[in-house]
Amino acid sequence: MEQTTAGNAELPVFEQVRYDEPIPNVARVTMARPDARNAQGLQMTYELNAAFDHAAQDDNIKVIILAGDGPHFSAGHDLGGDRGKTWRDFPVIGTWGGFDLGGAEGRYAREKEIYLEMTERWRNLPKPMIAQVQGKCIAGGLMLAWCCDLIVAGRDAQFRDPTLEMGVCGAEFFMHPWEIGVRQAKEWLFTSDWLSADDAKALGMVNRVVPEEELEEFTLNLAAQIARKPAFALKATKEAINHVQDVQGRRNAMMHVFSLHQLCHANNQMQWQLPVHPNGVSPAFRESLKKRDEAAKKQTG
Ligand code: ZN
Repeated sequence: MEQTTAGNAELPVFEQVRYDEPIPNVARVTMARPDARNAQGLQMTYELNAAFDHAAQDDNIKVIILAGDGPHFSAGHDLGGDRGKTWRDFPVIGTWGGFDLGGAEGRYAREKEIYLEMTERWRNLPKPMIAQVQGKCIAGGLMLAWCCDLIVAGRDAQFRDPTLEMGVCGAEFFMHPWEIGVRQAKEWLFTSDWLSADDAKALGMVNRVVPEEELEEFTLNLAAQIARKPAFALKATKEAINHVQDVQGRRNAMMHVFSLHQLCHANNQMQWQLPVHPNGVSPAFRESLKKRDEAAKKQTG
């Protein structure tokens, strides 16, 4: 498919996210931290949010693609800090507040804002969104794929949520049972195993599996096919299907699981002085978590 260049001066420019319009009526938002396997920290989170907002408000855009640079779609959440930036540097979407507080309340506030409600916001964005997934897609990375309406995966793509071995009951945006079914979700989480692209498709989590070298082209063609449909009917259809899932109890279930998730973090903190079980993370990761906690304590005095 012939692609247009992103020479349009009106396209927004970000540091960790790239925004382009590769074909008419389609916006593509690309996570551009391949060296960090597109790990999602604060900056990327709010850049993604701004990019999605731009696409949502642009009446010429009918479909949004979410992609990732490099060999892997997303390694999940980046807990390594944001180079000195604090919450004050970002346009928060919620009104809960208390992000800098210690204890369970600070973590609750932070995870509610950037994981639960932010992902919910993206899931409810009215225009059809397509995740273009290659390589590994882990924990928080799953949330990025799941908030999209369609998932196109490269044949080598693999999906994993290792949060249970980290002492937590699944990633914060708890779509697992909705994505692959109750029994399979239990096995997947209990074992922390990888799910292949083909298995994810068989279980209904992935729409299409294509060779890696055809992934971009296939996703663009799919987006183009959808973009030929009437914009309002696309929005109404998405809203209708999302609503069906919501009256089935998705949102209520997710709020309950989020409380359990926070209880798990609090329990780990009491037992291990870390928000996660020490056996489930690398020594380097344990150190970065400790540093982050110490920084939070300093801020609260
Ligand atoms: Zn968490």
